[in-house]
Amino acid sequence: MKLPSDLEIASQAPLVPIADIARAAGIPEEHLEPYGRFVAKVNVKARGDLARQPRGKYVVVTAVTPTPLGEGKTATSVGLAQGIAKIGKRSMLALRQPSMGPTFGIKGGAAGAGYAQVIPMESLNLHLTGDFHAVTAAHNLLAAMVDNHIYQGNALNLDPQTVAWRRVMDVNDRALRNVIVGLGEAADGVPRQTGFDITAASEVMVILMLATGLKDLRGRLGRIVVGYTRSGEAVTAEQLRAAGAMAVILKDAINPNLMQTLEHTPALIHAGPFGNIATGNSSVLACQLGIHAAEYLITEAGFGADMGFERFVNVKCRVSGMQPDAAVLVVTVRALKMNSGRHRVVPGRPLPPAMLEENPADVLAGADNLRAHIAIVRSVGVSPVVAINAFPGDHDSEHEVIRQIAREAGARVAVYRGVAGGGEGARELAQAVVEAADEPQDFRYTYDLALPLKAKIEAVATKIYGADGVDYTPEASRALKNFEALGYGEFPVVIAKTHLSISSNPKLRGAPKGWRLPVREVRLAAGAGYVYAICGDMRTMPGLPSHPAAENIDLDEDGNVTGLF
Ligand code: ADP
Ligand code: MG
Repeated sequence: MKLPSDLEIASQAPLVPIADIARAAGIPEEHLEPYGRFVAKVNVKARGDLARQPRGKYVVVTAVTPTPLGEGKTATSVGLAQGIAKIGKRSMLALRQPSMGPTFGIKGGAAGAGYAQVIPMESLNLHLTGDFHAVTAAHNLLAAMVDNHIYQGNALNLDPQTVAWRRVMDVNDRALRNVIVGLGEAADGVPRQTGFDITAASEVMVILMLATGLKDLRGRLGRIVVGYTRSGEAVTAEQLRAAGAMAVILKDAINPNLMQTLEHTPALIHAGPFGNIATGNSSVLACQLGIHAAEYLITEAGFGADMGFERFVNVKCRVSGMQPDAAVLVVTVRALKMNSGRHRVVPGRPLPPAMLEENPADVLAGADNLRAHIAIVRSVGVSPVVAINAFPGDHDSEHEVIRQIAREAGARVAVYRGVAGGGEGARELAQAVVEAADEPQDFRYTYDLALPLKAKIEAVATKIYGADGVDYTPEASRALKNFEALGYGEFPVVIAKTHLSISSNPKLRGAPKGWRLPVREVRLAAGAGYVYAICGDMRTMPGLPSHPAAENIDLDEDGNVTGLF
């Protein structure tokens, strides 16, 4: 049976007024700032009142190495929240806000799927309450103040060659990757080559994600390093006197957005940093609020367990002070078939039709990838629950193989049918998650912050990715030494690499062995508070495909959006 489209399902769903959703979650009305009838911001001040309610269990949703299409972490998170409600417990979601660029680029819902969605999905996938626009404006204000500072005489002696602060926009536009600003006459500024990234790649987005309150937000904005003086000292947004105004632009964006699922369980949607070069998780504040507003708070970490989950543990949890009680590891038949190495999967192209045929042997051949991700989750002392996200073309024999692999690895396992069946289809998974979360956990970080930066990068490479070691270019080694000399040595690290392999080579499938992580370049995100190592070609401004999804999106005369997923 063919499901109606995500938009059809979502637009026919009855919505409950957001004030009722908030009341059921114990969020005091005086902290609710409605944006229309079905979306509201929850003021961060609610945290104090909510803290009087008991703390719920914290569940993080991650995945095996995905195909370029994604394996349904968001869809599973949403359906799991609905399923937990079905078995009589109160749930809450904490998810990233999707970026609008990809909405008009490559088709694919970002609000869940089928009968497991956050609604109104048009709001979620478009402007929502304008947080991304605020991030864009705050980021670009700093860029304007950098160029203006140079133009007005450059009192800080900022070396224009070292300015790493680019501009951002929430549109996929490859033509803006490299631009020259300041062309024209002398009064039009000082010419300089720079470029645009997508808003999700902005350090300001990570700052919004990690901020624990207004004071912390303001402090982090001030610590942003835009470039260096000719003698090698860091120049910050504080020195440029931009951080106060940036904080003002973000003063409403800091409040998480409350929405609902198709079955009226509450969902906090907040911040949306990229999963490759940034932290790939939803906000710390939404989790700090949500954990006292439900018995189970479910949050998603981007891409596979080697990516968003590792950053969830080593960056987000350190800042939030929270620790997960269970991890859901989403796996699909198609992901394991891809990881068998027997199928040629090309990003931007449909999956090869042979991957849709019944073939438990290919699923088994990709098993090492699932085993490796189970091991990653265990390496930080958390119980994994393997969730087999059932797709319409799957065969029972293939699910059975996955159950077997998970059981042999000693992990709980459940088939998740929430996309076709809503919360009802998630009962088995909900039950398994509740059981796992009742077990005592032995949570630990992958590395100690006091270690040198190189040792931290090596810990992630060897303990999480299974690399033999790390190779640095001379520039990368020099930059790491310099960051330590400048006082940034105690930062955690983020490794920017492909999500299509546990290794840094997108072509290596399964659980690659016998390889070393090549660090080409390292960069500083001093406001966000981490150092990131670039391993491979990282896109920070996507392009549009030959037929962008935008071509099919339209508006009817009643104001209804058509063609959006
Ligand atoms: P992730 O969060 O892991 O990137 P998503 O939940 O966004 O994954 O799902 C990726 C894509 O797969 C989306 O287009 C979604 O609609 C689709 N999808 C996910 N789960 C299912 C399923 N069980 N059946 C059909 N389509 C699905
Ligand atoms: Mg997702």
